[in-house]
Amino acid sequence: MSNFDHLYTPWRYGYLSGDRKKPEVDCIFCAKVNADDQAELVVYRSTHVYVTLNLYPYNNGHLMVVPYAHVPSTEQLPPEALTDLMLTTNAALAALRRIYKPQAFNVGANLGEAAGAGVAGHFHLHIVPRWAGDTNFMSVVGGTRIIPDELVETWRKLREAWQAPPSGG
Ligand SMILES: [Zn+2]
Repeated sequence: MSNFDHLYTPWRYGYLSGDRKKPEVDCIFCAKVNADDQAELVVYRSTHVYVTLNLYPYNNGHLMVVPYAHVPSTEQLPPEALTDLMLTTNAALAALRRIYKPQAFNVGANLGEAAGAGVAGHFHLHIVPRWAGDTNFMSVVGGTRIIPDELVETWRKLREAWQAPPSGG
């Protein structure tokens, strides 16, 4: 398994090590579409996509931009949803910069199980803030990575930071 797989699928190791029951037919991303924002850690809702926190973050502020539509790839999204996806990604990057001042980002997606997608049926784009020296992937695999920020606190910070509109928007 490459480092790339580790980076975008950290939640899978939670499944392996935890007592979480096997994923059911219900889609975890569809479940968030009409759910309570705080309960499901939904940071922002746009017209075609929403933004939520990864429950097994690689770093503080690890976000996912998710279309409301249950489709496995960007290829099934109409142009307006694709535009919304990227504009919302830009807004997420801006919010993360305001809060965490990361040195860099990884932005990417795994299309299909063979590529490492944890939920292959529902496309989601990962946004991971990065700092020099945070590249110890093995600590993620071992489930021992220290995340100093609580998820709800991260959610709260991002909701506040999101109030400022993205540049040009
Ligand atoms: Zn779904």
